[in-house]
Amino acid sequence: MRTSLSGWGANKWVDCELAEPETTDQLSKWIDPAGTIARGLGRSYGDAALNGGGQVLGMARLNRFLAFDPTQGRLTCEAGVSLEDIIRTFAPRGWFPAITPGTKFVTVGGCIANDIHGKAHHAQGSFSNSVEALTLLLASGEVVSASREENPELFWGTMGGMGLLGIVLETTLRLRPIETTYFRQEAHPARDLEHLLDILAEHDQTYAYSVATLDVMARGARLGRGVVTVGDHARRDELPPRLAKAPLALGGPPRVAVPVNLPELTLNPLSIRAVNAVIQQIQRHASPFGHYEAFVYPLDGISHWNRGYGRRGFTQYQFVIPFEAGVPSMRKILDTLLSEGELPFLNVLKRLGEQSAGHLSFPRPGYTFAIDLPVRAHTPQLLHRLDTMVLEAGGRIYLGKDSFVTPETFRAMYPRLDAWLQLKAKYDPRGTFTSDLGRRVGLVAGGCAGG
Ligand SMILES: Cc1cc2nc3c(=O)[nH]c(=O)nc-3n(C[C@H](O)[C@H](O)[C@H](O)COP(=O)(O)OP(=O)(O)OC[C@H]3O[C@@H](n4cnc5c(N)ncnc54)[C@H](O)[C@@H]3O)c2cc1C
Repeated sequence: MRTSLSGWGANKWVDCELAEPETTDQLSKWIDPAGTIARGLGRSYGDAALNGGGQVLGMARLNRFLAFDPTQGRLTCEAGVSLEDIIRTFAPRGWFPAITPGTKFVTVGGCIANDIHGKAHHAQGSFSNSVEALTLLLASGEVVSASREENPELFWGTMGGMGLLGIVLETTLRLRPIETTYFRQEAHPARDLEHLLDILAEHDQTYAYSVATLDVMARGARLGRGVVTVGDHARRDELPPRLAKAPLALGGPPRVAVPVNLPELTLNPLSIRAVNAVIQQIQRHASPFGHYEAFVYPLDGISHWNRGYGRRGFTQYQFVIPFEAGVPSMRKILDTLLSEGELPFLNVLKRLGEQSAGHLSFPRPGYTFAIDLPVRAHTPQLLHRLDTMVLEAGGRIYLGKDSFVTPETFRAMYPRLDAWLQLKAKYDPRGTFTSDLGRRVGLVAGGCAGG
């Protein structure tokens, strides 16, 4: 089916030939050798799951559970299964995704391709830590298994490999045992950046989940004023009687929806100020227990919130800089970002832990900051300026959110790129797996699929 597709940021729309197989047999037969890319639930912000002028393989119908071992919490499933599917089925039985991003509307295949991280990265690592094995459809048509022991180079090249080495068909994941679907949580106000980073560091050892939100109106000496929220899975015996009646309760559907095509002024500075104030208000007065919907997935409560940015869409800028780069680098980058006069809807700051062995995996030890920005004429220039600052600080940006990084900058940020490109040449010499992002940043040779 010919259709126009975009990423979650809706800042670029391209015509693609969308095929949505229901069986792996169909998938293998339908692959367009001229160029194709897998697409999960389209939650990457930029062009990772787009292939302008060529084929896109929608994976969401390949969403069957294949085996579950309830003694170990080991789940084998097709790659189009979403974290929402996993939670609905397994949370009532006492299991939760071991690693999750800030939305549950993502597929397991998408989580692997971005080696996603969550609020607990400093304690639990990235998604690859929960993956035991996968099967991959290669450009040759061969289906191979990969794990830490079997074809390890393919396994690690696929973790963060943006779907460009092959299509993940199935995977075996370890789920996390939980006694309740609630989180024990605390909120700590911070007066400035130094204070905020100190609070985050102080709680690194005591809480698995931690994240900070900045007050974007605070500048100068007050830059970095905000709230740090920390928490962990609550045990059954900790819950108050009101919650203990249904300790493994599931959440409901989204409470609010943003209608299609809001005018661009809807998220104007005033409304964004109001939204930020409300979020901070909620966090300051948070009760000691939060349901997973509110604690892990607050944005999932508003469906299609990405439409609030209007027709030109938005981007999310996420970078990480090493701890050694220190507070001055962080302050300089934040100052530049926040001085642009654009007041973001969402911002998140946290500490990341150990790096995985994925060649192109984003997380590394350091401070990460993510911020939504509406796309304007000057946005690419601003982000290129920021990229230079991030690079000078020894950091990098996250491809899962990116729409603008140049191939030169990307290369400088990812030292294991050449090793990954050798895998690409070995397993996909003709560039069958290709995407707008792959061509833009130099992960595949240009010119495929009309790109
Ligand atoms: C509200 C929100 C919060 C988020 N929070 C976080 C966060 O906290 N941490 C974080 O790391 N990310 C976060 N993200 C980003 C999101 O987790 C990733 O972009 C994720 O990859 C999206 O999964 P998806 O199924 O939508 O994949 P898509 O966006 O559709 O595709 C992403 C990539 O996966 C590839 N892919 C998909 N399926 C397969 C497959 N079967 N085989 C091979 N490749 C495949 C695609 O080719 C593409 O390169 C967030 C996004 C949103 C919208």
